[in-house]
Amino acid sequence: MSYNPFEHALQQLEKATTLHKIDDDLYEILKRPNRTIEVFFPVRMDNGQPRIFHGFRVQYNNARGPYKGGLRFHPETNMDEIKALAAWMTWKCAVVGIPFGGGKGGITVDTRQLSRGELERLSRGFTRALQDVIGPDKDVPAPDVYTTPEIMAWIADEYSTSVGAPTPAVVTGKPLHAGGSEGRDTATAQGGFFVLHSLRKKLQLPNNARVAIQGFGNAGATMVRLLTEAGFRVIAVSDSHGGILDMRGLGMNAEYLARTKKEKEFASGAYFDGTRWDAEHYQAISNAELLECDCDILIPAAIENQITHENAERIRAQVIMELANGPTTPDADEILARKGIIVVPDILANAGGVTVSYFEWEQNKHKEHWSKDVVFAKLEEVMATAFDHVWDIHKRFQTELRTAAYIVALERVAEATQAQWGLSPNTLSSPYASKTATRK
Ligand code: GLU
Repeated sequence: MSYNPFEHALQQLEKATTLHKIDDDLYEILKRPNRTIEVFFPVRMDNGQPRIFHGFRVQYNNARGPYKGGLRFHPETNMDEIKALAAWMTWKCAVVGIPFGGGKGGITVDTRQLSRGELERLSRGFTRALQDVIGPDKDVPAPDVYTTPEIMAWIADEYSTSVGAPTPAVVTGKPLHAGGSEGRDTATAQGGFFVLHSLRKKLQLPNNARVAIQGFGNAGATMVRLLTEAGFRVIAVSDSHGGILDMRGLGMNAEYLARTKKEKEFASGAYFDGTRWDAEHYQAISNAELLECDCDILIPAAIENQITHENAERIRAQVIMELANGPTTPDADEILARKGIIVVPDILANAGGVTVSYFEWEQNKHKEHWSKDVVFAKLEEVMATAFDHVWDIHKRFQTELRTAAYIVALERVAEATQAQWGLSPNTLSSPYASKTATRK
């Protein structure tokens, strides 16, 4: 059977509804996106010929606020993936209590084969194709896999030009000069770091715990730096080309690693690059080997479907922090739970990105500029509060953290969706007292 992430998203939801009962009609709504949009649009390539691109935007639920979620430019992007990611955005925004719904979009494309000019024309063309369905109070895109702040600036510019007024709040994750927020570039990892800090206190994890990180994009590379600076022992990193393992820890050279990645296109190049690294102790490993290495904390920070029933049994970490969206399949979750491995789910662990997106949107709306200290203080508060709430439900319902996070989300999205469609609120039968959906 081929892999369908949306089926997995629905299985996760279904599991939560067995503990947090919801009305059948409401469930029928929450199981489906409000709207799926598919676009085909031409882009002029450098050779002068047009090429047709296939793009998607899924608007899953907007009961709690405008649809919110990134745009992914990836060769494998398809509608089922975007539907899953849009559902996860809905639950994610609810878990951290920011007043947004959930959406996601993308284009099926390998950006490495485009020139900068082609990429700009692609981004602008996609914005025109989505012109009617996005907007600062309607649907607010952001970066995701292989999309950058620069792309967000093109989107903001294209949208602003077509509506005839500067509208930076139509998209988040912009560069600072285009109305971006301080700290947005590192927010996903920073949010995960705050969550890990809270978890460490609960579990009494040692300060120098051994960490393996899969993925060296924005989230993964920033996490390597933050953890290294905080004294964790990052023993393995990888990117799509493969990885490196050094049981002594990769040291304080995270910055060097990041630079090498930039220059050489792959992180493992760092070890093949002259004097600063002692090649004696490192080992070149595959992505599959990284997941199974002997570490305390495993951080998948790449793409979906990495920890499955095929390798879950061999995972040795005590904690898995999902900085990627959807890295663990539902059948793997069961195996991990049986083994006593704690999984901090994506909809909590990586919610720092969209939280700072919300701060960016607020700053744009009010024409403000907050300092990095203010942004991170607010982020820490949001992440710590969300973690405590999820942990509380996890204890109360005796269920793993993913289902606990879904219960928190479901409670908030259910209440708002019922209000939106005029469904009876009495259909909620949560044993847990209902609270209002948004929190400032
Ligand atoms: N793409 C990020 C995510 O999956 C950020 C979304 C946003 O900032 O809207 O959470």
